[in-house]
Amino acid sequence: MENKSIWLKNIDVKPLEPLKENINVDVLIIGGGITGMSTAYNLKDSKLNIALVDRDLIGHGVTSKSTAKITYLQELIYEKLLKTFSHRDVKLYLESQIEAIMLIAKTIKENKIKCNYQKTSSFVFTNDEKEVAKIKMQKNFLESVGIKVKETKNIPFNVKSKYAIEVSDTAVFNPVKYLLSLKEICVKKGIKMYEDTKIISIDKIRDKYICLTNKNKIIADKVVVACHYPFFLFPFFMPIKAYMEQSYISASLIDETKDFSAITSNTPIKSIRYYSNATKKYLIYLNGSHNLCNKNDIEKNFNILKRAVKRLGYEPEYIWSNVDLITSDNLPYIGSISHNQPNLYIGTGYNTWGMTNGTIAGKIISDLILGNDNKYSTLFSPTRSFNLAKITHFPLNLYSSAKSFIGNKLIKNKNWYHKNVIFKKVDGENIAIYKDENNKEHIVYNKCPHMKCSLIFNSIEKTWDCPCHSSRFDIDGKCIKGPSRYNISYKKNNK
Ligand SMILES: Cc1cc2nc3c(=O)[nH]c(=O)nc-3n(C[C@H](O)[C@H](O)[C@H](O)COP(=O)(O)OP(=O)(O)OC[C@H]3O[C@@H](n4cnc5c(N)ncnc54)[C@H](O)[C@@H]3O)c2cc1C
Repeated sequence: MENKSIWLKNIDVKPLEPLKENINVDVLIIGGGITGMSTAYNLKDSKLNIALVDRDLIGHGVTSKSTAKITYLQELIYEKLLKTFSHRDVKLYLESQIEAIMLIAKTIKENKIKCNYQKTSSFVFTNDEKEVAKIKMQKNFLESVGIKVKETKNIPFNVKSKYAIEVSDTAVFNPVKYLLSLKEICVKKGIKMYEDTKIISIDKIRDKYICLTNKNKIIADKVVVACHYPFFLFPFFMPIKAYMEQSYISASLIDETKDFSAITSNTPIKSIRYYSNATKKYLIYLNGSHNLCNKNDIEKNFNILKRAVKRLGYEPEYIWSNVDLITSDNLPYIGSISHNQPNLYIGTGYNTWGMTNGTIAGKIISDLILGNDNKYSTLFSPTRSFNLAKITHFPLNLYSSAKSFIGNKLIKNKNWYHKNVIFKKVDGENIAIYKDENNKEHIVYNKCPHMKCSLIFNSIEKTWDCPCHSSRFDIDGKCIKGPSRYNISYKKNNK
């Protein structure tokens, strides 16, 4: 069994060179996930001078660990939105998701992208009697705007279900193959792309943005922050506007795939899709998710997943975890970050539906940059009113964040640690020593450089994970996921 995403297996691409000089561009895109690559793709035919940088490899972020369903039937999203937004706005959200599905299909067709794209139907199902009315309400809404919805009791899968709805015209794909194809197309079109190039600060001087990497400077007229968690915006997002959700995913070999995907309407989340490449067929099964700040015994959560897969009669070949930002009002943040900074754009907060939302973010942001109208820009604007009535998770978010932030500073709260990890205080600094299978010691500082939260050892994926804002570090302390901009590698006598 491999402890990594199935999409990251056997990727054979030559890394692009990091940025080695100071440059001036019209547009800088920070991050090569679905948001950044979709923005770049939409701008590729413009006359703008564009650069895209990624701290790691393009296509290896959160997008590479998703289940990659391309669907507008997203748990109970419409039922939730209808509680606080007008029917018109909820319909607009639905239209944005359908437009994104069509954009992905068009891009794949026009460029003959080989990314295992397959049309499927999508189900939302529940085995909880109390949820049935909510799904029915969602069904009524979808039908009221002309979507054909089928009602059923069971989904074509071996899980208990009391009620389900099914829609068509949705799809699944391999997200990494999709992003790597966009990368190739954009590079051919003259967009400059740099990997292993981390932006550590963004400053505005008059009407230019000065973006610093460790060694160089990028001066840009417009900047698109497409790096999942916006490292430079404090305290814009947390904890009031969003929280992080972590989920556990598996891929198991099977004999036959089916042409549907499905997800439960309520927790514990179970999500199902199939994937086949030239030689093998897989069931991709997600079981369990939680607010990053809570229930963070990672090994236990993976064991729950493994047991669930085995109960279905399969053996996981890959297991991995992933995180996404859940916004307080269930809509993403896409557009200019403030009225004072119309040329600084952001796309994030996709509520675990980033294939569609990241794609539509690419369209909205590129339209804003090119001066085109976009009918979704007001609804998704990061400057939309912060209306407490629209905020459903706010009190819980605040409580969980505070608990995690304060709680994980207490020594007693270290029950998530692993038997192969030792903690020490050296020169007043907390360090952690992990002994690997060959008895080799890997030493790191045990505080996240972002906001000094104590880190959790993820014994399955062999990483140090931040339970506050999802930064991740490898066992030798290299930061592999933000918002942290710094490593935690321990250097003796060199703090
Ligand atoms: C368990 C799970 C399952 C999911 N399944 C689905 C699904 O089935 N369908 C769906 O629609 N959505 C799904 N999602 C949601 C989706 O995966 C995300 O919303 C989406 O991938 C986020 O894309 P992104 O471009 O914002 O981030 P990313 O893909 O993470 O891209 C951001 C990029 O920015 C780079 N970066 C970060 N900081 C810097 C910096 N300082 N300088 C330079 N580069 C930087 C990173 O290296 C990364 O490559 C799922 C999410 C989870 C957690």
